[in-house]
Amino acid sequence: MTAFIALGLEENLLKAIADMGFETPSEVQEKAIPILLERETDMVSLAQTGTGKTAAFGFPMLQKIDVKSRTTQGLILSPTRELCLQITNEMIAYGKYLPGLNVTAIYGGASITDQARQIKKGSQIVVATPGRMKDMIGRGLVDISKIEYCVLDEADEMLNMGFYEDITEILSHSPKEKSTWLFSATMPKEVSTIAKKFMHTPVEITVGTKNVGSDQVSHEYYLVNARDRYNALKRLADANPDIFSVVFCRTKRDTQKVAEQLIEDGYNAAAIHGDLSQNQRDLVMKSFRNRQIQMLVATDVAARGIDVDDITHVINYQLPDEIETYTHRSGRTGRAGKTGVSIVIVSKSEVRKIKSIEKIIQKQFVAKEIPSGMEICEVQMFHLANSIKDTEINPEINPYLPNINEVLEDFSKEELIKKVFSVEFTRFLNYYKNSKDLNISGERNFSDEDAKDSTRYFINIGSKDDFDWMSLKDFLRDLLQLGKDDVYKVDVKDSFSFFNTDTTHQELVMGIFKDFKLDGRQINIEISKDTGRSKGRSGGGGRDRGRRRGDRNDRGDGGGRKGGFKKRSGGFEGGSDKPKFKGKSRRGAPRPDAKGTGGRRRRKG
Ligand code: ADP
Ligand code: MG
Repeated sequence: MTAFIALGLEENLLKAIADMGFETPSEVQEKAIPILLERETDMVSLAQTGTGKTAAFGFPMLQKIDVKSRTTQGLILSPTRELCLQITNEMIAYGKYLPGLNVTAIYGGASITDQARQIKKGSQIVVATPGRMKDMIGRGLVDISKIEYCVLDEADEMLNMGFYEDITEILSHSPKEKSTWLFSATMPKEVSTIAKKFMHTPVEITVGTKNVGSDQVSHEYYLVNARDRYNALKRLADANPDIFSVVFCRTKRDTQKVAEQLIEDGYNAAAIHGDLSQNQRDLVMKSFRNRQIQMLVATDVAARGIDVDDITHVINYQLPDEIETYTHRSGRTGRAGKTGVSIVIVSKSEVRKIKSIEKIIQKQFVAKEIPSGMEICEVQMFHLANSIKDTEINPEINPYLPNINEVLEDFSKEELIKKVFSVEFTRFLNYYKNSKDLNISGERNFSDEDAKDSTRYFINIGSKDDFDWMSLKDFLRDLLQLGKDDVYKVDVKDSFSFFNTDTTHQELVMGIFKDFKLDGRQINIEISKDTGRSKGRSGGGGRDRGRRRGDRNDRGDGGGRKGGFKKRSGGFEGGSDKPKFKGKSRRGAPRPDAKGTGGRRRRKG
């Protein structure tokens, strides 16, 4: 509280801050608020999601506007409807002791006349998405010719979404003399361009990567064959029974598909993307907040509005097209001082992107292995044991106990435990008994992407010589003087390794290693017969091959598919259904629909 006084905020705002339960300002608030209160200046502020940016611009704006006037003095642009509403609600909460304050939200998909009516009543602050704002300016329904403060919130995201022209158009209707405050989690070229174009010598604030948002998140990647992506996702979910996660896909279509697949396989999952109606999206978000959904499969755009604390895992089912977007994704977890994990499921052809991401987040990824089936069984049994331990006894079962006891009276505690766990786990154990290793460090498989002219080499140095895939790749690149993506599929074994280059570089590679010594040792290199190229090419069409192999894997990893399970209609390669535990749920209460066979089920919202 006192800490907020020191920033120069006035009594009416301090009261609201106390009501909200904020005790100390976050770093971005501490840095931005005093400057914005004291000076009329432009500002560029870089801070991760979840660091309290709304209050960082919201409090100064509320303190500086004149609530007695009905003129629109502040404009806040934000990329999505969800964020727009979120900011509006926050601003209203912050300004609850400012009599006469009107904050209006303007966004698409709702009645434009209603919004125009609200503005007409006199809104000092308008929070808007660019599309609708431009529309309303065009129709003369809103006047921003007198604004003094303009916030571009989530500027990187607005530009990602293609709002550059709308923003330019909107700002051309605003006065030259105003303060523009730009907030962004990342600083791609486009954002600095917009900062140069619309701002005059802005004060720059960077909240270090060591802020609450990012420091709490650890980053992991799992290297698998592209066709095993879905199986890997399921294993990760199975290995984390209490998972509460957002799973990111690149397209609406993939988002929908992955969600449907998960639901079919018995997980508490749902999709959220732009093709859903607003009503559907609200329903999904409600179930997610209530934890009825444990895995929310989302597109980047739809996820912008997800403001849920306690997310345990962010899963990058596919990496984003724009590497910068990764920061937004991982920022969904590790909020409010909690820890979180951001996971990337990656195939060999994309694994080099991990390095680029590390540069952006300034943190190292940990390479992890997809847990084996037996590890998962262990985790799940332990989890069940713990939920039994923590379950509160429901007195309503008392009347039934005499009969139950009679049935079970001959068994010792040890026998009962064995029986309970056998009931739960026989099917599960069978499912995973013959499951294969999904990690590709231990085998030489190639994803479908490498049907191009690529040469694979064998080289007689490996982890014994202190190489891992990254250092070997760096070593080769330096030696060969090749570009950063020219050496790929580096696969380091104990005393030897494999790597690929495009076939055009084959002569160069063979030439350099013709008589090459490392620490006095002769290094041999051979062209591996087992190249991605020959695999991809034979049998005409890598895709089909992959799919056929995937089908085989189905049987290998599965065995769990029972009568009731539908055969997948293509699209996903590999994978099979999740064995569900009867009576298992997050809260340890039996599921109402638990049946003897333990087929697929989902919890009703
Ligand atoms: P960002 O815009 O940086 O992603 P938000 O402004 O949405 O972050 O804030 C994230 C959450 O933190 C919100 O729920 C907000 O109410 C809360 N919050 C903001 N500032 C503080 C603070 N000083 N103390 C505690 N909670 C805060
Ligand atoms: Mg924000």
